[in-house]
Amino acid sequence: MFAITPIVTPAGGALEGHDEEPPLMAQIDRVPNLALFIVLGVAFAAQVANADTKSHAHASHSIIDVHTHLIGRPPSFPGSLKSALTLMDRHGVEKMVVSSPPRSDKKGMYDYTSLVRFLRGKRRFHFLGGGSSLNPMLHRHAKIADIPQGLSREFADTAQAIVDAGAAGFGEMASLHISVRPKHAYKFQPADHPMLLKLADVAARSGLPIDLHMDGVDEFMETPDRFRFAENPGMLPGTLKAFDRLLRHNRKAKIVWAHGGSDPLGEMTPGLIGELMDKYEHLYMSLRIRGDSSKSHNQVFDADELDAGWLELLKRHSDRFVIGTDSFFVPPKVPSNAPAKQFARHNDATLKETGRFLSMLPPDLARKVARENAIRIYRLGAGDRRMAARGPGAPGQMAQPPGKRALAEAEVRRIVVGNTLNFTAPSNGRNLFVHFAKDGRVVMRAAGKPKKIVKQWFFTENGLLCRTFGRQNKKHCTRVSATNTQGKLMLWNKKVRYQATLLKGQRFSN
Ligand SMILES: [Zn+2]
Ligand SMILES: [Zn+2]
Repeated sequence: MFAITPIVTPAGGALEGHDEEPPLMAQIDRVPNLALFIVLGVAFAAQVANADTKSHAHASHSIIDVHTHLIGRPPSFPGSLKSALTLMDRHGVEKMVVSSPPRSDKKGMYDYTSLVRFLRGKRRFHFLGGGSSLNPMLHRHAKIADIPQGLSREFADTAQAIVDAGAAGFGEMASLHISVRPKHAYKFQPADHPMLLKLADVAARSGLPIDLHMDGVDEFMETPDRFRFAENPGMLPGTLKAFDRLLRHNRKAKIVWAHGGSDPLGEMTPGLIGELMDKYEHLYMSLRIRGDSSKSHNQVFDADELDAGWLELLKRHSDRFVIGTDSFFVPPKVPSNAPAKQFARHNDATLKETGRFLSMLPPDLARKVARENAIRIYRLGAGDRRMAARGPGAPGQMAQPPGKRALAEAEVRRIVVGNTLNFTAPSNGRNLFVHFAKDGRVVMRAAGKPKKIVKQWFFTENGLLCRTFGRQNKKHCTRVSATNTQGKLMLWNKKVRYQATLLKGQRFSN
């Protein structure tokens, strides 16, 4: 992500508007005046409505935007989604693939599991997983030698769980991610990091792409003057050799290199991209078309024409390019100097330039780049429809219990989802049957009672299995372990510990 406008918090501090998410809900928490939100929200909505009537008619290509970010914690998602839908309708965007920006920590951030829950049934949205789960694991240890074995396993399990949860891919992941303004994070791990190689293998098996932010640097590069902030080192590390090793590692893993057309260093030239695409059929690119006055934002255009090098590349590899605007969506009721307003302006300009860019391509090529390639690469077609917790779990597929440690999320999914747990509820001593349906519902019945209660199950970002209960949809979350007895599981958390019998399929009788 690459943004121009600083965001100013109500407290007056500048926040970066890039891949690192502003602690939005923290800001909202600090502002007590609810009326202010409402006023700003109305003003914002009015502005959006105005712009809407003006430009809707110009949208000529149906676009699928594969690289966008929902900002805020889950409670603010409805507002963020609403602003996304407004923009989509205005610019002819049929679908969006949303993700978390590439985080280096998990603080104050949602995980893909929140996207699973929130986006269920919303047909115009798909999601990527990993920006705030896999990426923090990747960037937690500077030295590969320091990675504990358990973390590698957790990384692999999480990657598989993302597939099982119905993601359209992995992202946003970061290799080299330079700071493009003060207080914006610098991150680096080489693209051939063992975790990324592992992820490539999971991606290859699942047929899902990896969305990778990697600023292109051939050998070492002295940090350009315009990026000389405290966050960046004086020299930027080379990235392309490691990228080549990642691409060579598994030729079935779809790698989507992000931010083509507006990379901050200007090194992602049509010559370089073309050379790599000639060599690697599994390399793709998402285009972030900015087209403002800055040179690094304006690579695909040459005055009022398309840049000849880019046009030639797009024609030669017409199946490899998709649109990824890197739009950020924040709820409209964001306080003060209206970061939401600034974001919305920014998103609008990008989509407008994207439309202009597409209109300059030959129609067949435009259709591929705007939409058709995305459907194929991200498996968004009707035949590819996924559901939450897809995967085995059918009778007879329970693996040998793997010892008594807490089972990883992927293992719990494999064993429990699609099946029923029968246990004595620790809270009230009732004999309960709890079926974990593949679509994310739990269906519960107490033995001897006719009534079935339907609630939801999900995983926390720490991998606890939760189900909601009661009128207020309170959460009950536990770890799950195998036991020495076949067909018995242990459910436990800090307060309770109880054994459950695993019944295959949906079973409610004793
Ligand atoms: Zn990015
Ligand atoms: Zn991004």
